[in-house]
Amino acid sequence: MKFFQSFLNRGDGPEIRRVRHELVRRSLEVRAVERFTPHMIRITLGGPELAGFTSPSPDDHIKIFVPGLDGSPTRRDYTPRRYDPQTGMLILDFVNHHGGPAAAWARAARPGDRLEIGGPRGSQIIAGPIDHWLLIGDETALPAVGRRVEELPAGTPVTTLVAVPGVEDEQAFATATHHVAHWVFRSMEQADDAAGILAILKNLEIPDHTFVWVGAEARVAKAVRQYLLDERRIPPQWIKASGYWAKGQADASVRDVGDVR
Ligand SMILES: Cc1cc2nc3c(=O)[nH]c(=O)nc-3n(C[C@H](O)[C@H](O)[C@H](O)COP(=O)(O)OP(=O)(O)OC[C@H]3O[C@@H](n4cnc5c(N)ncnc54)[C@H](O)[C@@H]3O)c2cc1C
Repeated sequence: MKFFQSFLNRGDGPEIRRVRHELVRRSLEVRAVERFTPHMIRITLGGPELAGFTSPSPDDHIKIFVPGLDGSPTRRDYTPRRYDPQTGMLILDFVNHHGGPAAAWARAARPGDRLEIGGPRGSQIIAGPIDHWLLIGDETALPAVGRRVEELPAGTPVTTLVAVPGVEDEQAFATATHHVAHWVFRSMEQADDAAGILAILKNLEIPDHTFVWVGAEARVAKAVRQYLLDERRIPPQWIKASGYWAKGQADASVRDVGDVR
């Protein structure tokens, strides 16, 4: 249920409309577990408590509640990759990295297991005179990138630039947009190195009225944003850059890397 809206960046440029939702905690059942790609585990959740679930923006996130490595309750952020109210199924994609309780939970998950989720608490809806989208990220942002590519209207020009470990980690999206995909390969140990993404970005045309969305390891998101501002002179209101995680730190995200000095 929407009970609050606010607007950022009103005017000639893009606008980010903030929508708040009633915060609901749900207990769901694991219906399917799939090794979607070598580094991505796809988990389908269902159950009566999904009724009323809403996720209007592709970069929404929910909290998942899992046991921490010491057994204490822990929560982490995940993107609702797909929600189908007809079948009552919610899909989450988990990066299979070795280190954290959320990834460990996904590796061990089996049909019949339960998962508590909360949210989304709010959504940021990006709109306005956007002629082209450029979506940049790493494997943690693939759910948000995939959703946006699939949910943009037919014919919308959208370019994606995503860093993953290998060619088998590439994903195909069902879309009627004009989608051009660029993939960068680097190991997960090098996920905080922006060099591969920047090398391709330097050769990409960024037409006027391109909205650039970035979701990646925090240092990479910051480096990409800085490059776009300094070298490509993209106005800050045309960029949304978030650190989805930070190498070497548990549960570390930076919602707007523009705030980080
Ligand atoms: C808005 C938002 C949406 C997100 N959506 C998704 C999503 O849909 N799918 C998804 O997989 N992630 C997503 N993430 C990222 C996810 O929340 C983090 O990767 C989280 O830290 C994973 O929790 P964990 O318990 O597995 O590891 P943590 O306990 O948080 O971290 C343990 C160690 O693992 C490292 N680590 C954490 N994540 C990674 C990684 N991806 N690769 C390599 N090392 C890592 C940390 O640096 C730390 O050293 C999202 C983050 C945000 C902010």
